[in-house]
Amino acid sequence: MAHVERHQWDVVIIGAGGAGLRAAIEARERGLRTAVICKSLFGKAHTVMAEGGIAASMGNVNDGDNWQVHFRDTMRGGKFLNQWRMAELHAREAPDRVWELETWGALFDRTKDGRISQRNFGGHEYPRLAHVGDRTGLELIRTLQQKVVSLQQEDFKESGDYEARIKVFQECTVTRILKEDGEDGDEGGRVSGAFCYERESGRFFVLEAPAVVLATGGIGKSFKVTSNSWEYTGDGHALALLAGASLINMEFVQFHPTGMVWPPSVKGILVTESVRGDGGVLRNSEGKRFMFGYVPDVFKEKYAESEQEADGWYEDPDSNRRPPELLPRDEVARAINAEVKAGRGSPHGGVFLDVSTRMPAETIKRRLPSMHHQFRELADVDITAEPMEVGPTCHYVMGGVDVDSDTAAARGVPGLFAAGEVAGGMHGSNRLGGNSLSDLLVFGRRAGLHAAEYARACAGGRPAVGAEQVDAAAAEALRPFGEAEEPGADGPSGATGSTGASGVSRGGGRPAQNPYAVHQELQQSMNELVGIIRREEEMSEALERLGDLRERAGRATVEGHRQFNPGWHLALDLRNMLLVSECVARAALNRTESRGGHTRDDYPEMDREWRRANLVCTLKAAEGRGERAERISLRRREMPPIRKDLLELFEKEELIKYLTDEELTSE
Ligand code: FAD
Repeated sequence: MAHVERHQWDVVIIGAGGAGLRAAIEARERGLRTAVICKSLFGKAHTVMAEGGIAASMGNVNDGDNWQVHFRDTMRGGKFLNQWRMAELHAREAPDRVWELETWGALFDRTKDGRISQRNFGGHEYPRLAHVGDRTGLELIRTLQQKVVSLQQEDFKESGDYEARIKVFQECTVTRILKEDGEDGDEGGRVSGAFCYERESGRFFVLEAPAVVLATGGIGKSFKVTSNSWEYTGDGHALALLAGASLINMEFVQFHPTGMVWPPSVKGILVTESVRGDGGVLRNSEGKRFMFGYVPDVFKEKYAESEQEADGWYEDPDSNRRPPELLPRDEVARAINAEVKAGRGSPHGGVFLDVSTRMPAETIKRRLPSMHHQFRELADVDITAEPMEVGPTCHYVMGGVDVDSDTAAARGVPGLFAAGEVAGGMHGSNRLGGNSLSDLLVFGRRAGLHAAEYARACAGGRPAVGAEQVDAAAAEALRPFGEAEEPGADGPSGATGSTGASGVSRGGGRPAQNPYAVHQELQQSMNELVGIIRREEEMSEALERLGDLRERAGRATVEGHRQFNPGWHLALDLRNMLLVSECVARAALNRTESRGGHTRDDYPEMDREWRRANLVCTLKAAEGRGERAERISLRRREMPPIRKDLLELFEKEELIKYLTDEELTSE
């Protein structure tokens, strides 16, 4: 048995992005000893990349805004598939979370009269996104980090130890959630901690805690063209499944309409929606503003029919309707896809996004400094003088851990919580821009609060971490190094280790696999077969391929040592990406309609009968069924009816488009 260091905490937060840090601050403020663990350097999480802003109905720029309007927009954007209670809490609490950030030192851009400025974004009726140029995520993380440091300084004053009540384990990865009875997937067992490795040394350690919060972000690295960073390998989604929790809505993956398309090395990098929010327009190769031809019936009343009306809206939103470039993302992404397919695309397979003819150069540089820099440096394009070429890129996953709306507790696994992009339900079938940063703060806080309460209630009888489970997790992590050595001393320089206890044999003379090759094929398959437009045959083929890739990933082999070995890290991440991809493909195949981020070529219409359906993925043991056995099981679950007072916020004519006759008459 290997010796693995153990550390005792009350609450462990996996992830140091917006959701994780907000959860950590809350748990620590409630007096609980809190550990934060993250794959990258502290302050480097994906949230840093957020550009456009954080949505909150403060009404600073248009006082018509309030939480009810925000709730309505969010439900419309998600095509009414949202967990309505989450959408309600989010809309109600987002303004307080933004104000709170200010009190912790965030410096947002201001209006002329000194209030926090708010900008327009797709699907939001009023200017609603508080922002810091196009670098909002950086300010958010900087502020939360500063708050963590100030809490550590308080602790130092009190105890002489900065890390007495909040400690960050950076560049460390969790590979397993541990449970008290040692049975993976045992639905009854309480969470007891997390198994981790330090990326630099390869050393294993265990964080013991009765409450664990998943705040690990998204899954984009399973797709070839993505705006997401290297960290987005769906770890939290997979950790939840492996611990016995469920994932919902995994068929809903958001393809942001505007990613860079050229040069190939930067394909997928995001072009923020603020470009359109601030007046940028989309044109095809014929110079036409094509979005006027793509306004779906459900949105017709709210969007302009002519360029003149659309342009008038920026100055006078009360007398004009919104430009169709500001439709929700799924609509714009599909429109771009259709234009390119019809042969009206730009030279490199996108369309043109132009601000150069819409704003003076100085305004562009001031309002969109990162975009100006990004295009100049990466594509040699001056966006103050020429249009950008853009096309859809995999950006966000609406699906995630099935949580209780109020407490962020993962259903079925006591002690497990989830917040931020890893949690499902809040955004329904499509997220509105800006609603993620607010989601992180609202539900990060709630997760931290309820994890703290739960941990406190466990004080008398903390769940134990069994040695067998730790050994199994260590063996699983070492499997890519091969079968050569006995499990050895587990110090920082421990090199290769033992054969896996993951149940996957590498014997039988089958060749070892290169994890990079498996990853590349996975990305290609997901992009081509489960991408922006989906068909039954293609998704069935994707599931076949995923079965093969899973078997090959079981034979992925790496060389060298455990000290900073990216090939090894990828071999471990493959398990997660394959599990999550299977959930996406299986749910997408099952949902025979088009809604939000899920577009079926063979079922192009939205079907009211499907609105109340959540597709729930769980992991089922597949003993005796061979390596290619289908392990993800899928079931359909009805959502609870939307509360009456919330339904009354909508006109009946609008509800008819989404709800079934039975739902409408049952009120
Ligand atoms: P993250 O910020 O990604 O943090 C995840 C954390 O989990 C990281 O610390 C990571 O290291 C850690 N982690 C992951 N796996 C493990 C593991 N196994 N072990 C240990 N640690 C782990 N949204 C908006 O609302 N407004 C915007 O303007 C906006 N702009 C965006 C621009 C870009 C380019 C992108 C890609 C996204 C944008 N989004 C925006 C979306 C938003 O940024 C993300 O949804 C959000 O930041 C996710 O935050 P999070 O806290 O859930 O996760």
